[in-house]
Amino acid sequence: MQYRNFIKIPQLNISALGLGMMRLPTLDGDAGRIDEDKAMALLRAALEAGVNYVDTAWPYHNQQSEGFTGRALKALGARDKVYLATKAPVWHIKEAADWEKYLDEQLKRLDTDHIDFYLVHALNAERWDTTKATGGLDILERAKAAGKIGHIGFSFHDSLPVFKDIIDGYAGWEFCQVQYNYLDEGYQAGTAGIEYAASKGVSGIIMEPLRGGALARVPKEVMDIFSSYGKPRMAAEWALRFVLDREETVTVLSGMASEGQLWENAAVASSAMMNSLTNKERAVIEAARDWFKTRMPVPCTTCGYCKPCPSGVAIPEAFELWNSLVAFGGKEEKASWYKSAYVSAGHGADACTRCGVCLPKCPQGIAIPDRLAEAHAALS
Ligand code: SF4
Ligand code: SF4
Repeated sequence: MQYRNFIKIPQLNISALGLGMMRLPTLDGDAGRIDEDKAMALLRAALEAGVNYVDTAWPYHNQQSEGFTGRALKALGARDKVYLATKAPVWHIKEAADWEKYLDEQLKRLDTDHIDFYLVHALNAERWDTTKATGGLDILERAKAAGKIGHIGFSFHDSLPVFKDIIDGYAGWEFCQVQYNYLDEGYQAGTAGIEYAASKGVSGIIMEPLRGGALARVPKEVMDIFSSYGKPRMAAEWALRFVLDREETVTVLSGMASEGQLWENAAVASSAMMNSLTNKERAVIEAARDWFKTRMPVPCTTCGYCKPCPSGVAIPEAFELWNSLVAFGGKEEKASWYKSAYVSAGHGADACTRCGVCLPKCPQGIAIPDRLAEAHAALS
């Protein structure tokens, strides 16, 4: 295994592959019922492969992940062999006292007296406001001084300007966790975001390197592009090599559902060093990216400059889902997510009043209201 260091925490050696406890094997496809035998075998294999970063969160597996993680680490006598990360469910936080309430409950669930890496979970503009309004960062600093948490960071889901605002808004960030892969260089924080964070001393933990598994199951046309390299490699390996090449990356969290996947990913994480991609390899990845991009119906880079929409439409999110649907399929899952996360909350494309406020702000010149109507039809 290859080990890397956080800019602000150089004394810790972190495995370049981390184990995400969000997509563990389950029973009967029920996310709330972890297949504990298989999940335990996965954790054991991860430890054998040299993985020492384990990442969970309050809501994973219908709130069963933290409890399982605590039990499994104890059963394997491995709590002190890993750096344990979990996240504050900021969407549940209404007042200052809630920060400690959730942290204490998480320590109990994880059956430990300290959490090595504690993240404010899935920050966006609204949750960042909540964090500040409830004095969350002061409370986390006190928890750090008391030894309940080791290092403070955040995970992120919003646009680049919000990301920069969060980075600039607190000098104590030690790390950030962002979605990043070869198809999403401009999505959310993106390349510009991880570079900006590193320039401020905030290292990156990468999530969704395989875009929820989609980049491990690419169409034949993309496999043909990869094959042109002349050396057999799985699609997942190309995607992992892309994120591990970045010097901002400390560890890559991949949801691995089997020991086989774990050993494959561990082998890549052992050999894919920073700045190691050759020009030829970069060209292959570019060609694969171009193949996907030309099949996406709207040229939205999800830059977020069109936000905020006065009617609350989640413009880049709707376009991203539509693009993803056309490129990768998965209609049922994406339509269901679109409905529950956006339409039900009044942020769907159907809330567009065609006021035109967003139009001059889009650097891609997208006819946003018209294209939103198409996106809504495709996702409904
Ligand atoms: S045209 Fe539609 S999407 Fe654009 S700002 Fe107006 S309501 Fe929002
Ligand atoms: S619609 Fe335009 S401005 Fe809005 S996120 Fe997409 S590319 Fe950026």
